[in-house]
Amino acid sequence: HAKATLGQRMCLFEPGLLARHTEAVELDQDLDQALVQGQFELHYQPKVALESGRIVSFEALLRWQHPSRGWVPPGQFIPRAEASGSIIAIGDLVLREACRQARRWRDAGWPDLTVAVNLSTVQLYQADLMARVQWALSEAGLPAEALELELTETGLMEDMDAAADILEHLRALGVRLSVDDFGTGYSSLAYLRRFPVHALKLDARFVKDLESSDEAEMIANAVLALAESLSLDCVAEGVETEAQADWLRARGCGQAQGYLFARPMPADQCESLLAHEYVTRS
Ligand code: C2E
Ligand code: MG
Ligand code: MG
Ligand code: MG
Repeated sequence: HAKATLGQRMCLFEPGLLARHTEAVELDQDLDQALVQGQFELHYQPKVALESGRIVSFEALLRWQHPSRGWVPPGQFIPRAEASGSIIAIGDLVLREACRQARRWRDAGWPDLTVAVNLSTVQLYQADLMARVQWALSEAGLPAEALELELTETGLMEDMDAAADILEHLRALGVRLSVDDFGTGYSSLAYLRRFPVHALKLDARFVKDLESSDEAEMIANAVLALAESLSLDCVAEGVETEAQADWLRARGCGQAQGYLFARPMPADQCESLLAHEYVTRS
C-alpha cells in the first residue's frame, strides 16, 4: 500500500502530467479570450421521429474554433469552463443564439420548430437562471414552448430537492424540459416523479451496446418502460445503425438522434434538411 501511495506521489513529477497541467492552464486563458473574440459557434443536430423519420427539433451543440488547436470538442472545454465559472457567460451566449436561430427558422417557414439547449449543472443552480432564460426568449421574440432545455440526470441528482423546485419554475415559464444522458445516474422513480420534465434522453452508451450487451438492452428497456409509465417522450441518443433504430422503434421509442440520421451541422445546412424532413410536433 505504501508503495502504491509513493507511486502516486511520484506521478506528480511525471513530465506528461506537467505538460497536461500547463495545457489546462493555457486552455483556461484561451477560453476567456474565446468569448471576446467570437470563436464559438453552434451546430445543430436534428431529433427525428422514429415512425416517420422526420425532424421534430434541433439540439444546439457548442463548437470552439481555437486559433491554433482547431476545433476543440465540448467534452474538453466545458468541464474547464464549469470549473472557472466562465460557463455562465458561455451558456448565456448559447441560450441567446439558439433562441435567435429558432426565431429565424420559424420565420423562414417552419413556425412550429423547436430548439434544444444543453444547460450545464452550474447554470441550473445559478440564482438568476430564470431571468436569463426569460431574457433570451424575449430578446429573440421566441415563445417559451419553442425552447427546450436539456438537463443531465447527474446534474439533477446533485441536489434533487433544489432541482425539483427549479424545474417547477422553468416549467411554469412554459419551456420544454428533458433529462439528458438518462440511465447513467441511477435516479429513483420517486424523484423522477417530482421532476416535471417532458422527455428522457436514453444515454448513447446503452444504444451503442444494444446488440452486444444484455445489460445495455435491459437498461434501455427499463428506461423505455419508465418513460411510458410517466407519460414522457423517450429520445434515444447516438443511434448509428438501422438495427438500433429498428430495436428502438419496435419498443415504442418515439424519437432518436444520431449519425444514422444526421451529424450536428451549421445552421444554414439545417434548412435544406428541413425542407425535406420536417414534421410538426404532435
Ligand atoms: P449531449 O448533450 O448528450 O450531446 C450528444 C453528443 O453526442 C454530441 O457530442 C453529439 O455530437 C454526439 N453524437 C450525436 N449523435 C452521435 C452518434 O450517432 N454517435 C456518436 N458517437 N456521437 C453522437 P458533442 O457535440 O461533442 O457534445 C458533447 C457533450 O457536450 C454534450 O452531450 C453536452 O453534454 C455537452 N455540450 C455540448 N454543447 C453544450 C452547450 O452548449 N452547453 C453545455 N452546458 N454543454 C454542451
Ligand atoms: Mg444534450
Ligand atoms: Mg446526452
Ligand atoms: Mg452525453
